[in-house]
Amino acid sequence: MTATESKWLDTETRYDSGVYNKHQVVMVRAEGATVWDESGRSYIDCVAGYGVANIGHSHPDVVRAIQEQAGKLMVMPQSIPNDKRAEFLQELVSVLPKGLDRIFLCNSGTEAVEAAKKFAITATGRTRFVSMKRGFAGRTLGALAFTWEPKYREPFGAAVDNEHVSFVTYGNIDELRAAITEDVAAVIMEPVQGEGGVRPSNIEFLRAARELTREKGALLILDEIQTGFCRTGKMFAVEHFCAQECQNADGIRCGCKVDSQCQVVPDGMTLAKAMAGGVPIGAFAMTGAVADKMPSGGHGTTFGGNPLAMAAGVAAIRAMKNEGMVEQAREKGEYFMDKLRAIDSSKIREVRGMGLMIGMELKEKSGPYIAALEHDEGVLTLAATPLVIRFLPPVTISKEQIDQVVAAVEKVLKNVNPREVSKAEVKETKQSE
Ligand SMILES: *Cc1c(COP(=O)(O)O)cnc(C)c1O
Repeated sequence: MTATESKWLDTETRYDSGVYNKHQVVMVRAEGATVWDESGRSYIDCVAGYGVANIGHSHPDVVRAIQEQAGKLMVMPQSIPNDKRAEFLQELVSVLPKGLDRIFLCNSGTEAVEAAKKFAITATGRTRFVSMKRGFAGRTLGALAFTWEPKYREPFGAAVDNEHVSFVTYGNIDELRAAITEDVAAVIMEPVQGEGGVRPSNIEFLRAARELTREKGALLILDEIQTGFCRTGKMFAVEHFCAQECQNADGIRCGCKVDSQCQVVPDGMTLAKAMAGGVPIGAFAMTGAVADKMPSGGHGTTFGGNPLAMAAGVAAIRAMKNEGMVEQAREKGEYFMDKLRAIDSSKIREVRGMGLMIGMELKEKSGPYIAALEHDEGVLTLAATPLVIRFLPPVTISKEQIDQVVAAVEKVLKNVNPREVSKAEVKETKQSE
């Protein structure tokens, strides 16, 4: 069966809102790092639901936890305590940097950013924010104001409040210092920019952000929605930036487990994507000082902290711990990046990343190569800016699968003529309209 004969594809395309540029394939099943389409063809998945399936698709412990919880209790609002929620909060706080032990639960990344924004305002009494050029924070109007990409913001004009947001160059300490004025509530940044092209922050910049916000009475909020939960080879990416020598009198430390004056631990962290092994979830983790300033009833959400997501979250975080997934991501990430760097192609500008969050920047548009990887090689990857091929595989991906992905990348870089592929793509897009 060819993809265009699929009734599912026709039906979905017919009724969809139209905001997505749909792939011409219908996926029906996944396990670990493998996805199958309706014709039974398998793909190696380096998309993982945009960095959600970190512990592998349909991890058996998560499946079991959902099945059990579904028969017991699925819905209970956060105003009414629940055993699974308590268990999840304890599990989550056990892996977070010390000091971030107050949690607002929601259902997605963008909601976590919305929560961070409101908590930062009530914690400081200020309404200005500093975000990063090339930064991504989500698509709802509040989070969109922190998202750099103009094409995401411009269609909505003045409804996106950019008057209260300054964008600084990621890595430029002077710009950052100038932007953190007395009316700034928070600086929000990703420790590794994802959508913006897979760009790890440098240590000096993150430390400067911590120091300058402390000095000016603003909060530092790290967006770990994509980088969190083993993705970068640490439980959270912030741990890469915590120097072993960091000393701290008040007991706050980052995840490196050194009790010290931590130079990077933030006042708040936004979390989502991989936190519940594939079930929708989001959270804003913060210090008590931040949480205590929000008036009772100042924020809320119906589905946040629902027992079904909580059960999945408990199982997911335990699987990360029990199966050494931090180690796996670190080791496989190094292996993967070394192999990608060894590819001899004049089309490659740079391979960069952290753990299993990897970007290959080309000297030309990555789209045709991403399409060829999917169609011709059965490898799913995604773009990050027009030039970068992004790899976010499940941590459970095998070395053999990584070898296959690298061979496929090598092959498409050699064989694909971008002009021909872009014509084919244009045709396909037309057909779907
Ligand atoms: C994905 C992502 C978001 C938005 O999360 P959604 O669940 O898609 O709303 C925000 N920030 C970062 C860094 C992300 O990668």
